[in-house]
Amino acid sequence: MKTLLRLYDTKSREVQTISSADGKTVKIYCCGPTVYRDAHVGNLRTFLLSDLIVRTLSFRKIPVYLVQNITDVGHMNENFVDGNLVESSEDKMVAEASKRQVSALAIAREFENKFHEDLALLNITPADLYPRASETIDLMVTAISKLIASGNAYQGRDESIYFAANSFADYGAISGNRLDALKPGHRYEYVDDGAKRFHADWALWKRAHNRTEMVWQTPWGEGFPGWHIECSAMSLEYLQGHVDLHLGGIDLRFPHHENERAQSNSLLADEEAVDHWVHGEHLLFEGRKMSKSSGNVVLVKDLITRGIDPLALRLCFLENRYRSQMDLTWEAINAAHSVIQRWRARMSEWSESQSLDQEVIDREVEGMVADFENDLDTPKVIQRLRAIEKDPELTSGCKREIFARIDNLLGLELEREAVQVEISPEVSELLALREQARAQKNYALSDQLRDKLLLLKIEIRDTAEGQKWERIY
Ligand code: AMP
Ligand code: ZN
Repeated sequence: MKTLLRLYDTKSREVQTISSADGKTVKIYCCGPTVYRDAHVGNLRTFLLSDLIVRTLSFRKIPVYLVQNITDVGHMNENFVDGNLVESSEDKMVAEASKRQVSALAIAREFENKFHEDLALLNITPADLYPRASETIDLMVTAISKLIASGNAYQGRDESIYFAANSFADYGAISGNRLDALKPGHRYEYVDDGAKRFHADWALWKRAHNRTEMVWQTPWGEGFPGWHIECSAMSLEYLQGHVDLHLGGIDLRFPHHENERAQSNSLLADEEAVDHWVHGEHLLFEGRKMSKSSGNVVLVKDLITRGIDPLALRLCFLENRYRSQMDLTWEAINAAHSVIQRWRARMSEWSESQSLDQEVIDREVEGMVADFENDLDTPKVIQRLRAIEKDPELTSGCKREIFARIDNLLGLELEREAVQVEISPEVSELLALREQARAQKNYALSDQLRDKLLLLKIEIRDTAEGQKWERIY
């Protein structure tokens, strides 16, 4: 069954029409979070991609089934050494747990809950299923056993199980990183200590050795899974052996998705497991890729601290197409906050008018839905909305109806009352600085900032959940 949705497919390098192989439901798999830290707004931009796709298909009443994994074991830390990506043997979750002196599972559940809270704040539709890596070990063990039996995997000298990259002839089709071009020096996976047969092979299952936490008993001894096998095992199990659409951030193209494809196709005796690979481009913040290591991470709660509606972030994302890099700034977020407030205020003004022209409304809405279907051209939709807002030919009633209907795809809650108090970027900056001063226990500065805010008629209260503020008159 063909849908009207067209998306840029990374493997074929062209925009393709999305279809459902079983003729009933579009089956989507989206790589989920590694739950050892807060999701930053860059991660959330990628998670918004699945939401926009689900909303677009649902608008046409096409059934969708979305699975998103929760990586709570097996995602190794990565470092760049001499320009080569080297995966260390340290699990991100276990490392954070030992730093904070709590169990890895406690860390995982804490950040999994926060991930769901962040999705809700951005109106991101939840997936139908969130399987956890730690609870699907049996699926991975079955998949690995099959790969050993088919000659695609072997036990290395360190007793870990490796996928033999050479056993998959089409390796590299997604990213263009063909095996002959991956030089032995390019140790992109695991520290090359001679345990595996070929430098590009990757671990499916790692022997526990000294590790005691998050380990499982298997036919190959006690150990834990590699990261890539989790997505093959889960997508094939929960989407019944075929994925119509596979999503993730652009950095996952290689090696994660390349390795996943090699595993999944090998499990299906060389049948193509995924029809389309679609990737969201990275979010930059003030010119640099947002990441913990760049030190420019912004969280949804940072917006809330500044008195900004989290949906302003959603509007910023919509103003940029998913597959172009976008550079976010506080200025852009503040501007988007004002636009949302203005649109909500307009919606209540416009509700006075009863005059509706259904034909005009349908035409405008259809035009915008077609933009969504055209490789999620959301910037064009926002441009159209700005034009409709100002159009003297359209009645207020029509404007209101168009905005309300397209909000099913935008998810900006435009019919919500514009009750939030507008605050200036200056106040917003001072609120953030004060929260920071308090977190650093710099009480002198924090008091100074409180006085400054008071002069601007903003009163602060410190509560167990952090600082709260109110405008005084
Ligand atoms: P992680 O929790 O690190 O596994 O990442 C979750 C998702 O966020 C993955 O799909 C990444 O590709 C994506 N991601 C990481 N950094 C960024 C960024 N700066 N902008 C957009 N997506 C990102
Ligand atoms: Zn994945």
